[in-house]
Amino acid sequence: MDFINHQLFIKDINVHIDPILPKKIAIITHAHADHARYGHDEVIATKQTIDIMKIRYGENCAKKYTVLRYGQKLQIKDYQITLYPAGHILGSAQVLIEKNKHRLVVTGDYKVGKDETCKNFKSIKCDTLITEATFGLPIFQHPDPKEEIKKLINSVKKNRSSCHIIGAYALGKAQRVMNLLRQNNYSDTIYIHGSLEKLCNYYRSQKINIGLFEKVVSKDRSFYEGRIIIAPPSALKDRWSRRFPNPIICMASGWMTVKQRAKQRGIELPLVISDHSDWNELLDTIKKSKAKNVLVTHGQEDALVYYCKQNNLLSKPLSIQGRSDEEIE
Ligand SMILES: [Zn+2]
Repeated sequence: MDFINHQLFIKDINVHIDPILPKKIAIITHAHADHARYGHDEVIATKQTIDIMKIRYGENCAKKYTVLRYGQKLQIKDYQITLYPAGHILGSAQVLIEKNKHRLVVTGDYKVGKDETCKNFKSIKCDTLITEATFGLPIFQHPDPKEEIKKLINSVKKNRSSCHIIGAYALGKAQRVMNLLRQNNYSDTIYIHGSLEKLCNYYRSQKINIGLFEKVVSKDRSFYEGRIIIAPPSALKDRWSRRFPNPIICMASGWMTVKQRAKQRGIELPLVISDHSDWNELLDTIKKSKAKNVLVTHGQEDALVYYCKQNNLLSKPLSIQGRSDEEIE
């Protein structure tokens, strides 16, 4: 395990995983902004992660791109690198690094629950597991997302003269909410904030079922009565949202478990829909990995480290700079 440091840097081969500063070779687990940055010499990632990086940052956001398919091995000196689905967003991957029979997995952001908008999480056996812990506290027990979406559909049926505006991150969450609506047989056009358009088009091009959608344009206020509108969370409070009739403000996030947080943000209809694992899923992933050494990063490290130590595993937190717990996508 000593071949990777606390910044997820493998010195022997000069490879970083999800570095926040421009580097020579960067393996990118997924295209969220706190993992994928502009300006690396070489990016190694899945095709979808690379496509989304280009959509967000431009064609030349890295000098060179190396596409690695899920399950395909890349040999660099005496290291073997393989990507496996992380179930987080489209294109997201865990990274398996093998050297001298030692297997180390960096999960990146992941969720184990089913999601039609990306390949589902794969459990990997390893010696060392570096796991995220965004929701690494026992209070986080995510409900069934389909049941959460039903709350939204019922509210739309009840409040025909209102529109529902749902705050959802532009990459991943917005498209997942759209897909969940379709799974629950909601067939009306879904209206989207302009900043979501390119990503929604990309998801559609990848055959993800998000159904009919249209960008919000200026229309009579009455046009949006009874409609569902999806916008990035930052738009909920700005002037953009004032054009709609009797809006009911919703938010789709794992953080909506914390009632106080929903209240502070003026969210009337909180929807607990997360693209990260909850407490039990984190524990389950650790158990299934059979790892003897568990390093914990991205979020609420302490409780998970304590759990591991109680279960006779070697464990410590990894403090990676440049990550914030709350505003993650
Ligand atoms: Zn993410």
